[in-house]
Amino acid sequence: MKAEIMGIGTELLMGELTDTNSSWIASKLPALGIQLQWVSIVGDDLPMLTEAFKKGMERSDIIFTTGGLGPTQDDLTREAIAAAFDESPTIQQEVVDDLEKYFAARGTSMPSHNLKQALLIPSAKFVPNANGTAPGWWAERDGKIIICMPGPPAENRAMWEEVVEPQLTELVEDEVTITRNIKTMGMSEGAVDEVISEFFGVENPYLGIYSKADGIHLRVIARAKDSASAQALIVPVEQAIHERLGEYVWGYDDETPEKAVGMTLLEKGLSLAVMETCTGGALTNNITDVPDSLTYFKGGAVVYDGAGLKANGVPAEVVDQHGVVSQQTANAMAETVRRNLNADLAVAITGVPGPGEFDGKPLGLAYISVTNGTQTREMEMRIPPRRVTIKRRVPNQALIELRRLVDEIT
Ligand code: AMP
Ligand code: MG
Repeated sequence: MKAEIMGIGTELLMGELTDTNSSWIASKLPALGIQLQWVSIVGDDLPMLTEAFKKGMERSDIIFTTGGLGPTQDDLTREAIAAAFDESPTIQQEVVDDLEKYFAARGTSMPSHNLKQALLIPSAKFVPNANGTAPGWWAERDGKIIICMPGPPAENRAMWEEVVEPQLTELVEDEVTITRNIKTMGMSEGAVDEVISEFFGVENPYLGIYSKADGIHLRVIARAKDSASAQALIVPVEQAIHERLGEYVWGYDDETPEKAVGMTLLEKGLSLAVMETCTGGALTNNITDVPDSLTYFKGGAVVYDGAGLKANGVPAEVVDQHGVVSQQTANAMAETVRRNLNADLAVAITGVPGPGEFDGKPLGLAYISVTNGTQTREMEMRIPPRRVTIKRRVPNQALIELRRLVDEIT
């Protein structure tokens, strides 16, 4: 089944709003065996929308849309489908009743503009929306399907999970796609590519390589008539990746460095403290993104200069002799905060975030230290000289080093 997605709204065309709905829907399609062929953004313009639906119906079996279902005059998704199908929409009393109840429950009466949300054409049915006023539309014509969902992400995601996906599962049984994402850190993209080169260029299973802030990701995508056969296609590729890149692999699928670390610390009952300079709290922010972090994270310090390091107990002689940005200072930061907060483990980051060099050290130089008090892993990094890149990459590397230390000592 060939599909396309349309993000509808002039604000998307103006760059004021990013079309996150389309990428979210796109991520759901492979597992359903639906092949996405197009993604487009169309403004709130009736002739253009109508044209887009007509074109979409020629080239795709199924069109997903988000947006344009609101009560305001610029929301025209329903009107455009009616025009493309050459059908006249009429008000459906049961939806008017629902809308009136929705507003009454909030202590107001329904504005007259919301009436258009009760419009329906003969070739469509409503898709209930438990989280807002705009019901979705499921329209069918000549074996082609158009599924319209509201713009607000919370509304279309709930509608997708509760109604759209279960109905699609019944429709498309012919093929499944399974994806395995293997995440590595420590080898360059080119080196990874070389080590497993024979798997690239194959259509099924397809192997993709992506450079991300948390390392090089390898994505294996397999298509087959059922899950077991698709899985069987993935296994040999995954095994080879493991044999050749084993020590560099740190996670899978939607794992993040902070989730991987969190799971390990929870499992082993270990606690963590941090001290960071150039990352400005990014390390702490990542760690505390994990809901369970309260169980193992004791906190730490974000410090931006030598005086701050000393005030937090880092020995003055280390800072003065080696400088704020040095492996020795990183090691002292980790050990100091570990003791201060009585933690089992500590991570420290120090580096030069820019705009220029600092203390004779080049922009992009960073040091990581992770310790449990007796063993320490040290690392020097040379990051491309951009502040955002430093703030994204160094915390990820530090957390992966921490995971490696924990694996080593336990
Ligand atoms: P609409 O249904 O067109 O009135 O959209 C309602 C709201 O949903 C917009 O104001 C945005 O906040 C959000 N929204 C609409 N389309 C998208 C999209 N493609 N990606 C993310 N958010 C969206
Ligand atoms: Mg809109």
